[in-house]
Amino acid sequence: MAVYLAKLGELTLKGANKRDFERRLVENARLGLEKVDARVRLQSARLYVEGPEESSAAIEFTLSHLIGITGWARTRVCEKTIEAITQAVYDEAVARRDQGARTFKVETRRQDKSFPLDSYGVNTEAPSRVVDENVLAVDVHRPDALICVEIRERVFVYSNAHRGCRGLPVGTSGKGVLLLSGGLDSPVAGYRMLRRGMRLDYAHFHAWPYTSDEAKQKALDLARLLAAYGCGGHINMIPFAEVQTRIRERAPGMFSTLLLRVCMIKAANLLAAKVRAEAIITGESLGQVASQTMRNMAVTEDAAEFPLYRPLIGLDKEEIIETSRSIGAYETSILPYEDCCVLFAPKHPALRATVEESRSLYAALEADSLIQDAFDRREKIALPVV
Ligand code: ATP
Ligand code: MG
Repeated sequence: MAVYLAKLGELTLKGANKRDFERRLVENARLGLEKVDARVRLQSARLYVEGPEESSAAIEFTLSHLIGITGWARTRVCEKTIEAITQAVYDEAVARRDQGARTFKVETRRQDKSFPLDSYGVNTEAPSRVVDENVLAVDVHRPDALICVEIRERVFVYSNAHRGCRGLPVGTSGKGVLLLSGGLDSPVAGYRMLRRGMRLDYAHFHAWPYTSDEAKQKALDLARLLAAYGCGGHINMIPFAEVQTRIRERAPGMFSTLLLRVCMIKAANLLAAKVRAEAIITGESLGQVASQTMRNMAVTEDAAEFPLYRPLIGLDKEEIIETSRSIGAYETSILPYEDCCVLFAPKHPALRATVEESRSLYAALEADSLIQDAFDRREKIALPVV
């Protein structure tokens, strides 16, 4: 049997509705493991997942994508006697030595107060065989292997803890529509909202056939990646070539990028209404590019019929890249396929458009029915959880 233990994150701070958060976390974990033989159970602020050895890769994938846990580890399970604990600590130490560790320390948490030794006693007793047989040397300050012993209804011994995604379980806040380009920022913006418990549907605008199939594929790959954290969802591929052509024909070049953003938001309004989302999310960050000045963001805001969330607004590029790497999006995001925004992009975009100005420029486009038509022709693709 492969047994895993995960620690719950922020949801342990919840009050009366804590049960709902816990239930959602368990449901999300089960959803990820639907197709494999594994059992998920939650008990006193720990999530336990166990299954036969052949399920271990799937369990590890699920736990490393499960939002709502601070950390997880594969664990040994033993009987509640000091002899069994000493043996399990020894086995763990041998395994870690074989992986290159030289020093260790035992840290005990005794939740079951009826266990005769207190945690100090276990910390002193349990390492005895490891020390006697010179498997690893004790280092209480910076051990290579921190071997944790948790005495609960059973005893759990582990040392290789992985960092969890943290945050609130997906589905405990409302739903949002993420405007997902193929770039670096929007996947990170989506991940940030997923971590606040939001469920996401995705909208990608493409200018096929002016842009390539690879550009669409890139957005699809990023959506699939997010869906592993976000418990599935759908991506809507919205064909925007006609809208972009209209912008080129009717608007001064310097406003074309801004008007394209406005049109995207208008289409996102339609999608949000359709899927009963309560917010639209973008990957904008203040000052990053010309369309993301305060003035220009006021213009896109004005087009939105739903609250517009910009989770990256105060982050700099390095911070965004750090998250992009940690969620495994970076390599895909930097692939060099052109986004529809590049098409007809002005050399000198307007930096300080006013809301009134852009409203009248938008009106001159007479684009409402074009946007509705693009929306109606969208390609909706279901995203698997795993
Ligand atoms: P990203 O890295 O997410 O592409 P960016 O820094 O390139 O962002 P812009 O191109 O100005 O910034 O886009 C701002 C935001 O508008 C994006 O973060 C995204 O939410 C949305 N967006 C831009 N292009 C598209 C697109 N083709 N499809 C869907 N959303 C888009
Ligand atoms: Mg972009």
